[in-house]
This record gives sequence, C-alpha cells and structure tokens, in this order.
Amino acid sequence: MKNIILFGAPGCGKGTQASKLVERYSLIHTSTGDLLRAEIKNKTELGRKAQVFMKKGELVADEVVIGMINNKINNNKTAKGFIFDGFPRTVKQAIALDKLLEKLEKPIVKTLMIKVKEEELTRRLKNRAIEQNRPDDQNEEVIQNRIKIYLEKTLPVADYYTKQNKLVEIKGEGTVDDIFERISKQLLS
Ligand code: AMP
Repeated sequence: MKNIILFGAPGCGKGTQASKLVERYSLIHTSTGDLLRAEIKNKTELGRKAQVFMKKGELVADEVVIGMINNKINNNKTAKGFIFDGFPRTVKQAIALDKLLEKLEKPIVKTLMIKVKEEELTRRLKNRAIEQNRPDDQNEEVIQNRIKIYLEKTLPVADYYTKQNKLVEIKGEGTVDDIFERISKQLLS
C-alpha cells in the first residue's frame, strides 16, 4: 500500500491531480470535500451540519472528518493505497491519520505540497465557481476566508510532515500535464 497526501491551498489543483494519479497508479481518491458534498446531496444530518461551515469557508469539526476517513480506510483495507486530498487540514487531523494508518502498518510515504501564488489561487477559484457551480467558490469574501484559514490552520500541517521528512514541494503553475509529471517523478523516486 502506498499512501500519499496531496497538500496545498484551495485552488492549487489537488482534485485535478488526484483524479489523474488515481488513473495511473490505481490508488483510492479520498477527498473529504467530496465526501462532505455527497452528505449534503443525500440530505443527511451530517451534511446539514457541515454545510453551515462549508458555506462560510470554515472548517468542519475535526471529529467529523476523522470519522469519515476512518470509515473510508476500514472499508478499503485491501486497497493499493490512498491519495488523501483536502485531508488532513489541521495538525489534529494529521495525528489522527497517522494513528489510523499505524494500525494497518501502512504509513504516509509522501506529502506533496502543490505551491501556487495567491492571486493565481483566487483566479482559479473564481473559474471553478463557474465551471463546477460550487457555492463556496462564488463569493469573494468566502474565498478570502478559505485562504486565511488555510494559512492559519492548515499550513502548520506542512511543518508536521517536514519534521517526519515526508514533505516535498511541487511547483503548481504550468499546464495540468506539467504538474502531473512533476508529481509522478516524486512518486517514483
Ligand atoms: P474542498 O473540496 O477540499 O475544498 O473542501 C470544501 C470544504 O469542505 C472546506 O472549505 C471545508 O469547509 C470542508 N472540508 C473539507 N475537508 C475538510 C477537512 N479535512 N477538515 C475540515 N473541513 C473540511
């Protein structure tokens, strides 16, 4: 099993790259954002509660997303590996993920941090609002809040993996294929 994390600010291209990686390496794409949006679509209690935070660009409670990841891992114990996308977003989530994977003796091998300049992130999120009709991409204030929360709560997760010698930075500008090749090189090394 090869478990990797795609890490970076909202709009850095994690989802796009994860889909391509899944195709090439047969890993399981695990996006907490997608899991939460499915809960909202299915009108579950969890979805109803999560939506309040997502609409504002705030983070959903750690316990909720950790619970969802726990289920996903337990339901796919024979998987070749997981690509975590949008998780962990806090140090508490990172510690919980390590514990869950420790039980399987299959740790995270690399955390790939996709780096994109802030003005480019804002531009991409505005485009995504049109293309994917995501409510949390549509309002400038919410976009700015998501970036602020990324800097405050999520960026410390990068230090957490640096200390474990697992963080690799990837230049996130250029074509989708260029970025994909940079990531693939890292996965083969
Ligand atoms: P994403 O699709 O990854 O951009 O996530 C969309 C929204 O879902 C985020 O802005 C958060 O409100 C929520 N969310 C997704 N993943 C997490 C997570 N790991 N922890 C807390 N909230 C999350």
